[in-house]
Amino acid sequence: MYKHEFNRTKIISTIGPASHDYEILKEMVYCGMDVCRLNFSHGTHEDHLFALRNIRKLNEEINSNICILQDLQGPKLRVGDMGEGIELITDQLIKVTNTPIVSNSEIVHVIYEALVEEVKPGECILLDDGNLELKVIEKIDDHTLLAKIVNGGLLKSNKGFNLPQSKLSVPSLTEKDITDLAFGIEHGVEWIGLSFVRSAKDIIELKKRIKDGGSSARVVAKIEKPEAVENIEAIVEVADAIMVARGDLGVEIAQQKVPLIQKDIVDICIKAAKPVIIATQMMESMIENPRPTRAEVNDVANAVLDGADAVMLSAETSIGKYPDKVVTIMSKIIDDVEQSRGVYYKGERPNKESSTFLSDEICFTAVRMSDHIDAKCIIGMTTSGYSAMKISSYRPRAHIFIFTHNHSLLNALNLVWGVRGFYYDRYESTDKTFADVLEILKLNKVVNHGDLILHTASMPIDKKSRANTIKISVVQ
Ligand code: PEP
Repeated sequence: MYKHEFNRTKIISTIGPASHDYEILKEMVYCGMDVCRLNFSHGTHEDHLFALRNIRKLNEEINSNICILQDLQGPKLRVGDMGEGIELITDQLIKVTNTPIVSNSEIVHVIYEALVEEVKPGECILLDDGNLELKVIEKIDDHTLLAKIVNGGLLKSNKGFNLPQSKLSVPSLTEKDITDLAFGIEHGVEWIGLSFVRSAKDIIELKKRIKDGGSSARVVAKIEKPEAVENIEAIVEVADAIMVARGDLGVEIAQQKVPLIQKDIVDICIKAAKPVIIATQMMESMIENPRPTRAEVNDVANAVLDGADAVMLSAETSIGKYPDKVVTIMSKIIDDVEQSRGVYYKGERPNKESSTFLSDEICFTAVRMSDHIDAKCIIGMTTSGYSAMKISSYRPRAHIFIFTHNHSLLNALNLVWGVRGFYYDRYESTDKTFADVLEILKLNKVVNHGDLILHTASMPIDKKSRANTIKISVVQ
């Protein structure tokens, strides 16, 4: 193991030209990175494969468990070719068409087949992350709308656009997503993010494709549409993790609503024991600058206090000037906030009606007990990851050391708050397993003589069922 004092809140870095080389990835891991995000809105399959191979090689070389989050672009709407850029002048009129034409200051091309059917007069078209705004006045023909420029500016080629007031029929997985998904499955990514999720159905459909592809990858539902916020409970139930994708979310809904939506989603996820990621513009100014702004430092600190499992870096690490430095600074902010008690002991008492009540109660009690006895760590064995996520959701101050024989799960758990995974594949007897795993922790120098530790396990151990046992030991 490469690091002995761990952050509980995990750091996800988006990998791109600034960070895909082996040495810089290694540096970022040593600085505190836990997860690499490959953003399939950018780059070719060769680019992603280059990064992916370097990450896998690194895991072997330094015995880390860095996992890969493949982020599918989803039905992101984009404008066409704008040449050198087109200046939209506030208060002027402009035509918007889905006919592939050369755009000019009177008519711009957007790529969306159902434009005229689905975007009604009075609704808005937001361009370039909402920096430019149009209001639709009328339909001109089956391919073209007339709009007024409410907020003008320079529109560049291929920029995204949003239709927050329109009911859209776009499929949740595009042809590109399906090709990209096949790539992710082939290369064993541990997590797959789906953009522009609207309902639980989108997740169920993606999960079926993943299963049919023979993969056990888990799904991150990116919350960036108002419909997803409305359907959040149902989405959390079927997804394996949630991302508060604040970039598009802040365009699709009034941006002042995002801070409280973030807090509500984190609460819902902690109660459901589903990991939750806070994403976008966390350290944005560090794309160019060696220090973040005070507001960015506060943003990261607040996400940690909210109880997020992970905080995410986007362009800061993919194309920014300081990919390792930004991870170091983020790690320092997390570390400082985690010294406070405000971060710990969240979640709710297990529900007696739940089919997993008894094992949930073991996890809950282990966490409470770890607080009472000031335990150094809670040790768990897992085959599905369930108990690791449960223990984590109660946010113990003690470290969570999880043992599993499943390499892919070992990596996947690296996204989860507080969890540090270790490989273990011998399940002879409970006593032997407890002794073995303790030896591994001692070898890794993460426990010391005299430390109080808590084991959770399922007895008999070889049955590999849900946790039913807690044991306290003192490290000899
Ligand atoms: C976001 O919109 O915040 C986000 C993470 O999505 P993407 O970067 O894929 O557009």
